[in-house]
Amino acid sequence: MSDEQFFCEYCGYNSGNRERCTHCGREIAHLFENPPQFTIPRTGRITLRLHDRTDSENTWKELAEVWREKVEDTRPHKPSQLENFNTSADTVELYGLSYMVSLMQEAMGARGSVEFQELPHEQMPHRPKYQLPRPPTVPRNKR
Ligand SMILES: [Zn+2]
Repeated sequence: MSDEQFFCEYCGYNSGNRERCTHCGREIAHLFENPPQFTIPRTGRITLRLHDRTDSENTWKELAEVWREKVEDTRPHKPSQLENFNTSADTVELYGLSYMVSLMQEAMGARGSVEFQELPHEQMPHRPKYQLPRPPTVPRNKR
């Protein structure tokens, strides 16, 4: 789906797989449960799309649980989007960060697809109220 690279802390190489390092074979998924602070996450619209809407309400209920646990519980300062899942339509739109796409694709499996459209911060419906963490500044006498 993507050519995203994941840095493996065990062997120091990049892995093409988020779950298991494609270089040394260790499980590395836990390293990526939160986005690393030194990358600026991309913001955008995430569209979940079911191939088949026959059982959509139950599927959305299940995916809402994943979203709640993996996204909203880790970002309690953000407004909840859980009610977006309360639908029988075949798509659900959410606003979030690029790393959430793979989380939701994983949960969705073969039942559907996940699209990500990057948006500038100004076009996001909820502008973040906090500043992204900045790298520590070097004291003047160490420069
Ligand atoms: Zn490795």
